[in-house]
Amino acid sequence: MPRYCAVKACRNRGRTAFKKANKRISFYPFPLHDEPRLQKWMGNIKQGEWTPSRHQYVCSEHFTEDCFDIRWGIRYLKNTAIPTLFLSTEHVVVLQHKL
Ligand SMILES: [Zn+2]
Repeated sequence: MPRYCAVKACRNRGRTAFKKANKRISFYPFPLHDEPRLQKWMGNIKQGEWTPSRHQYVCSEHFTEDCFDIRWGIRYLKNTAIPTLFLSTEHVVVLQHKL
């Protein structure tokens, strides 16, 4: 099933991972099992009253490089990562960083 990014302004969708302008885009599920962290994700994504499901994802473009661990060439999202990068028309808005 193709995945898509839950961030409204973001058009990324596709398979589990793909390349866009030489950047690797991958999709990460919401931390539904980790309520405090989920609240931070929701606070940053700002889409009003809405509850993400197990089938919704946020793409790697909303995370800074230090949110990832790379092992054996595979990029993993750290279990403390919070999405902080959101495109607002032409500007990249950097929200207050995690923790
Ligand atoms: Zn996205």
